[in-house]
Amino acid sequence: MKTLTINLGRNRMVKTYNIAVLKGDGIGPEVTEATIKVLDEVQKTSNFKLNYIYGEAGAHCIPEHGTNLPKETVEMIKKTDACLKGPMTTPEEPGAPVSVAVTLRRMFNLYANVRPCKSFPSIESLKPDIDLVVVRENTEGLYSGQEALIAPGVSVAFRIITTEASIRVAEYAFKLAMQRKKHLTYIHKGNILRITDGIFKDAVKEVQKRYPEVTVDDLHIDAATMQLIKQPATYDVMVTTNLFGDILSDEAAQVTGSLGLAAGANIGETYGMFEPVHGSAPKYTGMNRVNPIATILAGAMMLDYLGEKEAFKKIEAAVVAVLVEGKIRTADLGGSATTSDMADAIVEKIK
Ligand code: NAD
Repeated sequence: MKTLTINLGRNRMVKTYNIAVLKGDGIGPEVTEATIKVLDEVQKTSNFKLNYIYGEAGAHCIPEHGTNLPKETVEMIKKTDACLKGPMTTPEEPGAPVSVAVTLRRMFNLYANVRPCKSFPSIESLKPDIDLVVVRENTEGLYSGQEALIAPGVSVAFRIITTEASIRVAEYAFKLAMQRKKHLTYIHKGNILRITDGIFKDAVKEVQKRYPEVTVDDLHIDAATMQLIKQPATYDVMVTTNLFGDILSDEAAQVTGSLGLAAGANIGETYGMFEPVHGSAPKYTGMNRVNPIATILAGAMMLDYLGEKEAFKKIEAAVVAVLVEGKIRTADLGGSATTSDMADAIVEKIK
C-alpha cells in the first residue's frame, strides 16, 4: 500500500490514500462526481485524506487514444491504493476493445467481485430482510472473452475454469461467511457443465475442509435465479463463477429495490477497485436523473477496504437516513429528485 501517514501533533495522525478516479462514460461522470461530494464531506470528520488522481478510461477515449484504457491511466493506477471506477460503455462489435472493468480485473488480479444485496428500510423490495452477498469469480469463465467463428454461422466461446482461480475465490467467500452467518451457497450448473463446473465444485469442497463451522449447500444456477425471487432471505454468501455471478447479482439488486442501489468491490491480494453494479445507462447521460447511491456505496466500500470503517458506517447510515426520510427519491425509486439532490441530501446527513 502506498499510504502516507502525516503526524499533525497532539497524537493526530492523518493518513493519506491515493485514489485513482475513473469517471467513465454515460452517467459515469454524474454518479462519480456525486460520490466525490460525499467522500469530501466524510473526510471533514475523519482522520484521513483522499488524494484523488483522475484518469481517462472508457469508450470516450477510443477516438483519441485508440484504446479504452490508455497506458498512462494504467501507470497512474499502479501508484494508487484503490480505484473508484464509474461505469463505462463497452462497444459490442467484434474486434472492439475489451471492457475496461474486465481488463482491470485481470491486470490487477482482482479475483473476487463482491456484491452485497441488502433490502433498505422503506424501499420497496420483493421480500423484506434480504441481506446477502454474491461473490463472483472475476478473472475467467465466459468472461475470458475467447471466442471464435469456426464456420459460417457456427461459433464457440471458451468457458475457462481453473482450480487455482476457483480455490482463490472460494477461500475469499468462506472467510466472508465466517464473518457473517457462517452459511455459504455455491452456485453452478454441474449437471450440464460437468468438467468446468466439476472443477469449480471440487475447489469449493476442498476449501470447505478448512472451514468446518460453515454450513454449505449448493444450487444449480437456474434454481438459484428462481430461489432468489422466492426466498432470498434464506441466503447469505453465494459464491459462483463469473457470468453466473454477474447475472445473479443484477437480479439480487433488483429484488432488493433497484440497480441504482447496488455497489460492488473487485478485490485482489494487493489492490481493490470499487464501482456500481450498473452500467453507463447511455440514454440518461447528462440528465442529472439517475440514482448515485450505488456509486456512493461503492465509495463507502472502498473506505472500508482501506480500513476506514467509521467513515464507511457514516456514509451507509446517511444513505439509509435519506431513504427512510423518503423526501428525496430518484426516478428509479419512484420520485423526481435529481442525482445531485440525492448527493446533497446524503452530504447533509453526514454533517
Ligand atoms: P445499465 O446498467 O447501464 O442500464 C440498464 C438500466 O438500468 C438503465 O436503462 C436504467 O433503467 C437502469 N439503471 C442503471 N443504472 C441506474 C442508476 N444509477 N439509477 C437508476 N437507474 C439505473 O445496463 P446496459 O444498458 O445493459 O449497459 C449499458 C452500457 O454499460 C453497456 O455498454 C455495457 O457494456 C456497460 N456496462 C458497464 C459496466 C461496468 O462498467 N462495470 C457494467 C454493466 C454494463
